[in-house]
Amino acid sequence: MHYRKRSLWNGEKSGERGFCYYFSGMTDCLFCKIIAGRIPSKKVYEDDRTYVFEDINPQAPVHVLIIPKKHIVGLKEAESTDAELLGYCQLVAAKIAREKGIETGYRTVYNVGPGAGQSVFHIHLHLLGGRALGWPPG
Ligand code: 5GP
Ligand code: ZN
Repeated sequence: MHYRKRSLWNGEKSGERGFCYYFSGMTDCLFCKIIAGRIPSKKVYEDDRTYVFEDINPQAPVHVLIIPKKHIVGLKEAESTDAELLGYCQLVAAKIAREKGIETGYRTVYNVGPGAGQSVFHIHLHLLGGRALGWPPG
């Protein structure tokens, strides 16, 4: 496997979306396209390492997805070198939760593999809140 550091899509202004590290051959990845602005999304937050947007099919009043700009397939494909990035995604979720006023109770979730409902194979942390959340989850 080799990763390459992609610069910018045609027409993007320098620095607009930063860099996207992705596995060459992953040009069909839905979430890489969202990061690049090639597919529209409702952006909530962005920095050099992460992109956060509203889930298209929300399961709670607040339901956003925190994704690393680096293309990682899922949690089971993550490597030890991704540890800091994945921890950072959790802290971004906590910041969004604070800003959205849902600190009474919220949940951050990775669905890992099709058996747990993972349907998009670019790792994404769900942040759900704004309603009572039952346990155990379905
Ligand atoms: P998963 O099922 O893989 O854990 O989560 C994928 C999530 O991505 C789902 O909650 C789904 O609603 C959301 N999703 C799928 N396609 C799109 C899209 O094109 N735009 C947005 N904003 N969310 C999407
Ligand atoms: Zn991707």
